[in-house]
Amino acid sequence: MKTEQLKQEIIAYSEEIGIDKIGFASADVFEGLKERLKRQQELGYQSGFEKGSIEERTEPDRLLPEAQSIISIALAYPSRIKDAPKSTKEERRGVFCRASWGVDYHDVLKEKLSKLSAFIKEKVPEASMKEMVDTGELSDRAVAERAGIGFSGKNTAMITPEFGSYVYLGELITNLSFIPDTPLEDGCGSCTKCLDACPTGALVQGGQLNAQRCLAFLTQTKDFMPDEFRPKIGNFIYGFDTCQVVCPYNKKIDFHHHPEFEPEPDVAKPKLKPLLRISNREFKNIFGHIAGSWRGKKPLQRNALIALGHYKDETAVQDMIAVMKNDPRPVIRGTAAWSLGKIGTREAFLAIESAIEKERDEQVLAEMEKGLAFKKGVL
Ligand code: SF4
Repeated sequence: MKTEQLKQEIIAYSEEIGIDKIGFASADVFEGLKERLKRQQELGYQSGFEKGSIEERTEPDRLLPEAQSIISIALAYPSRIKDAPKSTKEERRGVFCRASWGVDYHDVLKEKLSKLSAFIKEKVPEASMKEMVDTGELSDRAVAERAGIGFSGKNTAMITPEFGSYVYLGELITNLSFIPDTPLEDGCGSCTKCLDACPTGALVQGGQLNAQRCLAFLTQTKDFMPDEFRPKIGNFIYGFDTCQVVCPYNKKIDFHHHPEFEPEPDVAKPKLKPLLRISNREFKNIFGHIAGSWRGKKPLQRNALIALGHYKDETAVQDMIAVMKNDPRPVIRGTAAWSLGKIGTREAFLAIESAIEKERDEQVLAEMEKGLAFKKGVL
């Protein structure tokens, strides 16, 4: 079968199974990316979540020895929640970033890629393929860029003309050779909206990201959140997408093509207080199916404590005191103490002063001191 004919059949089939955009790229080495990753490594900008060596991340034939082409796919996701629940004074809510609304996209995209793979196998039994979504070695964004899905914005997101940057990406490396699609022109021009809006200066001119300053990454870490970033996360308990929200390409973009990605309002914008005392079983039942649960409940609870402090939610003080006194995890006890200080009621300060007498963990003690320092107006 001629590959051009197969390509057209694959495109038609991709539409049938609900893939919003598909593109074809060569499996050549990603030279530009290799240089960028090396620079990023030298500068210490990596998140630590990256998989594989720089070579594996930029040389497709290390992942599939006979690699010829890469098929890139994109699925659009919603940017608005219909009938979103309000965060009230009595019941404050956190929020997951848009990429974590609905069912975990890794599962949805993997299913689409498997279908695509089976379709190709049926046409060409000797075809070999390797699927990847996000956590694979290859950069989904670099592949999508080469395959003409979109251009890479200064906010480091893949921006498609049709769906803005609210797209999930995945790819299929194959030993079949397809005529590659043409990459799109850079569309940022002189715009710097995302750079200006980033509250931590994590976006470096030239499309680089310092993951160590990126709030989306920092909300996923398990240790204490560095002090500098705590006032900046607001009510985000997982991810952070301000750099996408401000992008002109995302204006009025809100696609609801896939029922799987429809946000469940109470999950996407959960009440903060109940999160503090959620059991592992409840957590799994309520949040287990969304992408934002992949690091477990601890980072979300830590961020929920910071968000309650951000809101100065006095109705949460009792729950937070219980957490500060009884939680076995130092990060949670310490963050509760810091946030109680931020809320700054008399009850909160008295509770920290009493808890400090019994606390033995050095880091928690330091957080308690920071909490008390709010009383003196030091922080
Ligand atoms: S906000 Fe402007 S600079 Fe940033 S990605 Fe969008 S178009 Fe590019």
